[in-house]
Amino acid sequence: MEPRVIPSPGKPGGPCERACGHIACHEKLQIAGTLCRKCSRTIGFDIEFERTDIGLQHVVCPDEAAE
Ligand SMILES: [Zn+2]
Ligand SMILES: [Zn+2]
Repeated sequence: MEPRVIPSPGKPGGPCERACGHIACHEKLQIAGTLCRKCSRTIGFDIEFERTDIGLQHVVCPDEAAE
């Protein structure tokens, strides 16, 4: 499972800065808004995350579930 990063809106590879009708942008924003399974914060932009059996999580988050 290779880590992925969503660049900030407006950056190359990132979603458009303004609301748009692109499906790809919509998916990126949706992923960025998904909660990390470990820290319960949003995945966000410019940070590595990976897809696991239970959902998305930051690569930097520890393996043990926090709280
Ligand atoms: Zn777009
Ligand atoms: Zn996290």
